[in-house]
Amino acid sequence: FREKKNGVIAPGSLGFVNAFSSASASQSQRLAGKVAVITGGASGIGKATAVEFVRNGAKVIIADVQDDLGHAVATELGPGAACYTRCDVSDEAQVAAAVDLAVARHGQLDVMFNNAGIGGNPVRPPLGAVDIADFDRVMATNARGVLAGLKHAARVMVPRRRGSIICTASTAGVVGTVVNPSYSASKAAVLGLVRAMAAEMARFGVRVNAISPGAVATPLAMETFGSWFPGKSAEEIRRIIEVDVSSMDGTVLEPEDIARAALYLASDEAKYVSGHNLIVDGGYAVSRTAK
Ligand code: NAD
Repeated sequence: FREKKNGVIAPGSLGFVNAFSSASASQSQRLAGKVAVITGGASGIGKATAVEFVRNGAKVIIADVQDDLGHAVATELGPGAACYTRCDVSDEAQVAAAVDLAVARHGQLDVMFNNAGIGGNPVRPPLGAVDIADFDRVMATNARGVLAGLKHAARVMVPRRRGSIICTASTAGVVGTVVNPSYSASKAAVLGLVRAMAAEMARFGVRVNAISPGAVATPLAMETFGSWFPGKSAEEIRRIIEVDVSSMDGTVLEPEDIARAALYLASDEAKYVSGHNLIVDGGYAVSRTAK
C-alpha cells in the first residue's frame, strides 16, 4: 500500500491513510441519488439513520406508527429529502404501500432498512409464566414485519437488479441474554431471514444484511431497562445502559454508530457484502462480558 516515488516505496507513506482522511463520512455523499425506506424511522436508531442517509445525499421515506414524531423528523430533514408515511410493519399491505410510495415519489427504491421493532413484555417471567400472546405480538412486528419488508423491497429491487436490504437484529438474537425470550427469538428469526434470503437475492444483484446493535439508550431500551430498575431516574437508567452494561471503555454506543453501520451496508462500498450480520456491540457477543 505504500506510495511509490520513481518506483521506490516511500518509507512511512501509507496511501490508504490519505484515502480515508481525504473525506470524512459527513462530507461525502455516499448515497447520492439513492432512495431509502426506513421503518421505525421516527425515533432512535431509525431516526439517526434517516439523518445520516440524508446527509449523504439519499432521499428517505420514514415509515412508522408515531405520526407526530415521524412528521417532525421529515420536516427537520426538509421536504425535498424526506417524507413520513404511517406504516405498521405487522400489516403487510402497509409495508407494500410504503415501498410503493418510494417508487411513486422518487421512481426507485435502493435501500430498505427493516428497522422497526418492539421489546415486548419488558419483564422476563419464569418459563412457566411466559405470555404466549406477547410472543405473537413481538414476532408480528420484529420478524413478520421484516419478512414483509424483504418481500416488498425485493418486488421492486429485483427487476432493477440492484438494491440493499438491511435488517435490524440484536445481540439478543446472537447470544442468550436476560431480555424477553420472545424478543430474542424474534431477532434470531431476523438473522435467519437474512441468511435465508441472501443467496436467492444475490442472483438478482440485491444484497441482504443484518445489523446487530448492543444496548443503545433509545426509548425502547430506556423503557426496558427502566422496568428492570424501578425507581431509578432516566439519567440513572441511561448511565446503566451506556456505562454499566457497556463492554467498551471510554466511549458510548450511540444511535449514530448504528446509523453509520447502516450507511456502509447501504452504500456501494459494500457492493459485495451480503448475508452478513454486522455486530456493533463493543465485542460483547464474542466475549459475553460487560464491564
Ligand atoms: P425506538 O423505540 O427508539 O425506535 C423504534 C421505532 O419503531 C419507533 O419509532 C416505533 O414507533 C417504531 N415501531 C414500533 N413498532 C412498529 C410497527 N409495528 N410498525 C412501524 N414502526 C414501528 O428503539 P430503537 O432502539 O431505535 O429500535 C430500533 C431497532 O433496533 C429495533 O428493531 C430494536 O429491536 C433494535 N435494537 C435496539 C437496541 C437498543 O438497545 N436500543 C439493541 C438492539 C436492537
